[in-house]
Amino acid sequence: MTGANPIDQIADLFAIQGASEYLGERVTQAAHMLQAAHLAEQDGAHDALIAAALLHDVGHFAGATSGEAGGADDLPGAEFSGPIPPQMHSRRGADWLAQWFGPEVTEPVRLHVAAKRYLCAVEPGYAKTLSAASIYTLGVQGGPMSGAELDEFAASPHAQDACRLRRWDDAAKDPDVAAPPFEHFKPLLLSLVKR
Ligand code: FE
Repeated sequence: MTGANPIDQIADLFAIQGASEYLGERVTQAAHMLQAAHLAEQDGAHDALIAAALLHDVGHFAGATSGEAGGADDLPGAEFSGPIPPQMHSRRGADWLAQWFGPEVTEPVRLHVAAKRYLCAVEPGYAKTLSAASIYTLGVQGGPMSGAELDEFAASPHAQDACRLRRWDDAAKDPDVAAPPFEHFKPLLLSLVKR
C-alpha cells in the first residue's frame, strides 16, 4: 500500500479499494471518481479542480484515510466545525489529502456534500437530477440547507468550485461511460503536490 510518493499511494487505493461498489450506484468507486475527473476535464476545469473531482470520494476508501471502515456519508454541518466522526467522508478525505495538496484541491472535496445540500435549496429542479441513492443520503446528510448555513456556504471562496464538482459527481454514475485510467491523471496530480 505504501508507495514511493503520494500519487502511488493513491493509485494503489484506486486499484484495490476502488473496485468496490459505489453506494448503491451501478459503477465502482474508482469508475465513479475517474468519470467525475473526466467530466471536469471535458468541462475545461482548472487542474486543481480536476484533481478534486478525481479524489472527491477518497474518504470512502476503507482504512485509507483513518484506519477505520469507510464512512457511509456525512452528517449535517460536517464541513464546517466540530470533531470528525469516521462517517464524514468529505471532511475525512479532505483532511487526508491536505498532507499533499493545497486548499484549491482539498476544499472542493470538503464541500462537495454541502454543495448538494446547497443546490437543493437554491436551485429549483436540481434535486430531481439526483440518483435514488443520492436522494437517500441527502436525508442522512441533513436535507436541503436553510438559514445561516446557506450564507455560510455561499461565503466560502471554494463554494463555486464545490458546486461544479458536485454536478460532475452527480453525473459520474454511468456504467456505459469509459473514463481514462488513473495513469492519465498522474502528471496533473504530481504537478499539484506541495513542495
Ligand atoms: Fe461522489
